[in-house]
Amino acid sequence: MNEPGTSVENAIDVADPSEEYEWLGRNPCACGGSWQLVFQALVGKAQKGAGTQMTDRLRVGCETCGAERDVFFVVTYEDEG
Ligand SMILES: [Zn+2]
Repeated sequence: MNEPGTSVENAIDVADPSEEYEWLGRNPCACGGSWQLVFQALVGKAQKGAGTQMTDRLRVGCETCGAERDVFFVVTYEDEG
């Protein structure tokens, strides 16, 4: 099974960067621990229709067991005008 957000190709669509953290809150580590952000990087930017899609890579670490994973998100910004 291909988990969402494990690569750029199946990045999770969000409308706002704050939804990235909400998603992490709803999808804790397999051990049940909460994710803490290790680093965040912009890995892609593309024009799509009337908006700009930014692909974010979030490296998170579990505060309980120490596991780390990358989660990819795509945020679509509507262009002004
Ligand atoms: Zn854990």
